[in-house]
Amino acid sequence: MKKIKNFRVTAKLFAVILALTSMFALAGCDLLDSILGDNDREINDGMRVYFLDVGQGDAVFVRFASGETMLIDAGRWNLTHNSFRSRIREFFPDQERMQFDWFITTHSHADHIGSADYIVNNSYIRNIVRPITFTQAEVNAGAYREFGISEGNARMQQTATFQRFVTAMETSTWTDGSDTNIYIPMAGKYFYVGPLGSRARVTFYSPTVYNYNPGTNSFNVNHYSTIFCIYFAGQRIMFTGDAYYLNERHVLDNLPTDVSVLDVGHHGSNTSSGRTFLEHIRPTYAIIQVGIPETGNGYNHPHQVVLNRLNDVDAIVKRTDQLGDILIQVCAETSQKRVGALVPA
Ligand SMILES: [Zn+2]
Repeated sequence: MKKIKNFRVTAKLFAVILALTSMFALAGCDLLDSILGDNDREINDGMRVYFLDVGQGDAVFVRFASGETMLIDAGRWNLTHNSFRSRIREFFPDQERMQFDWFITTHSHADHIGSADYIVNNSYIRNIVRPITFTQAEVNAGAYREFGISEGNARMQQTATFQRFVTAMETSTWTDGSDTNIYIPMAGKYFYVGPLGSRARVTFYSPTVYNYNPGTNSFNVNHYSTIFCIYFAGQRIMFTGDAYYLNERHVLDNLPTDVSVLDVGHHGSNTSSGRTFLEHIRPTYAIIQVGIPETGNGYNHPHQVVLNRLNDVDAIVKRTDQLGDILIQVCAETSQKRVGALVPA
């Protein structure tokens, strides 16, 4: 098994950057939103975030201002009514293999990593953030120790889908033939994407090694969802996978306020998007990745109580079951000012 690396963690710097980000948020450019197909409005010099309609599941493709790419989750395992594999290929029209600088998987459920093995097997990938769960073989080998997780906190996810993903990662490479870097998300860790002048920052707030299924002995992979935020040009785009109230509350004090876009947790289920959480982050836009019943939504997601809560914090709701793919764009101009001020040359 390949070495699993930790992100750079610099607590002091982390605090400073958060403060500066807050200061410069006011200078951020307007968020553009549009529906795919309206190509006239696509911008070239900013960040584009495509919330793909994969039925009842999650998949988000990001093209950063620097040109680097990120995939967040990889759709459902069941390909019926799922155009994810052909859809994601459309972003790489002239390439036999797709190319992702980052592939982040929020957790190991099949509506999020359903095509993760397909992605890894058909792409060059520079960095993978894998779920913080382990296969039986990895648990037996003590793989969790490589990033400081105790045996008691190491959780096993023994599904065929997850196993396929883990197996695929073992031979994954980047374009130059070097091994893909494999990371585990942890609260407080972050990385940058792109050079100075068009730089984005991605910061993780969850999981912590301590909050797995707090107060209960039951094991639910959703509790292991990573909560993270992309910062770019004074805008904040937050992802929570299928995290529950418990997870939201656990990390609430560390979360940014005035989030530009929230990828609504757990497809709008009433397990998530608690009132306290929403009142803290105050999302301008709330994107719900959810399917119609024929694409696996047997849960009546999104739940009305969540839609009510989003309405109460004045979030503008957009749903993939109603709109198909949803594109959020952030223009880059003020990013250059902001980053220039943040990190003087
Ligand atoms: Zn899900």
